[in-house]
Amino acid sequence: MLVYIHVPFCRTRCRYCAFHSTALGRGVDPAGSRLVRDYVDTLLLELAHWADIHGGAEIQTVFWGGGTPSLLPPRVVGIVLDRLARYFKLAGGAEITLEANPDSLRARTRAAEYRAAGVNRLSIGIQTLDDTMLRMLGRSHKGGDSLHAAFAAREAGFANISLDMMWGLPGQGVRQWLQTLKDAVRMGPDHVSSYGLALEPETALERASREGNVVLPPERDQSIMFMEGAAFLEASGYLHYEISNFARVGFQCRHNLGYWEGQDYLGLGPSATSTIAGRRWTNPADHKAWENKVRLGRLDENAEVLTARTRVLEMLMLRLRTARGLRLKAWRKITGRDLLADNKKLIQAMHENGLVRIRHGYLSLTRNGMLVSNTILLNLFERAEAALMPGGRSGPKILAEPLCAS
Ligand code: SF4
Repeated sequence: MLVYIHVPFCRTRCRYCAFHSTALGRGVDPAGSRLVRDYVDTLLLELAHWADIHGGAEIQTVFWGGGTPSLLPPRVVGIVLDRLARYFKLAGGAEITLEANPDSLRARTRAAEYRAAGVNRLSIGIQTLDDTMLRMLGRSHKGGDSLHAAFAAREAGFANISLDMMWGLPGQGVRQWLQTLKDAVRMGPDHVSSYGLALEPETALERASREGNVVLPPERDQSIMFMEGAAFLEASGYLHYEISNFARVGFQCRHNLGYWEGQDYLGLGPSATSTIAGRRWTNPADHKAWENKVRLGRLDENAEVLTARTRVLEMLMLRLRTARGLRLKAWRKITGRDLLADNKKLIQAMHENGLVRIRHGYLSLTRNGMLVSNTILLNLFERAEAALMPGGRSGPKILAEPLCAS
């Protein structure tokens, strides 16, 4: 099982962010904040609740996400991890990631304290090294903090460091992005997540864009940023193993790979989603409502039961995001259908246009295909959905549970 822990606090709110988090403010010490203390108490209760039900289950990965998990005192992270290890079975060599903002690692010993608390992978949210752009995005750190954070993480003994980067920022040019990426690679990360900026509805940046106050780079430039950025990272020794993720050999994020492979995951904290044994539920994105549910033990009372059809369609969408792709034999075994024969003309056209490849029995997207992945995935999803529709053009055809098919 995978465990995700949502930490719903940030120093300030970034202008593009749609995640659930409350801004604590710059001057507030999280260790002394009532809000943070209440959150930790409820988190421990939530953990105890699931220990009663799934206690002893083996945990392969823990991912502290948010929000800004690095606002939590390392001592608190250690207490939660100890509790997890006591209630469940933490697999030997479990990957334990903590997302950190560069400014949270300013204190000299902070990274080492997280290491001592049991964290073995740091994911540092750099985004860009340009201070003007960081201000425009509403980030709470400066470019110099990022250099310091990466250095401090290594010095603390972290052997697995990931950097989060962002392209397609307002005012950003192709050359500037590639230079940023070069500077980031010089910091020697083991893993790089490289996301295109998405304007989420009702965020400050989306409103500013609607009002014409910020303008994203032209689409053509954004395409070049993705393509050349990916080519540069591959040439620098990073495998392009998922649309937005690159890693040195052996440093792929096991937690995210688990999601893409359809493993069960337990989500803790407000707004976190869980999927266990074919049931899925999401905690309320509100502290009080989440706390009430935890106290009443009713976290999964409205769980959705995932049909085999839903799970198999999710498998299609998630596997095609990865460089390995979808194993065609597994698809046939699970659905009783031949994906290539069902979509012969479409897949042939995409193949001729260099958007997909079929190799060693896997269908996967090429880098050009990844660039237009949303369109391709939507197209294949709709066709597969129709083909698997009960009483639809093919009748109910799902023959086996999808989760074991690699
Ligand atoms: S630090 Fe992360 S979670 Fe917090 S507001 Fe910024 S983008 Fe959102």
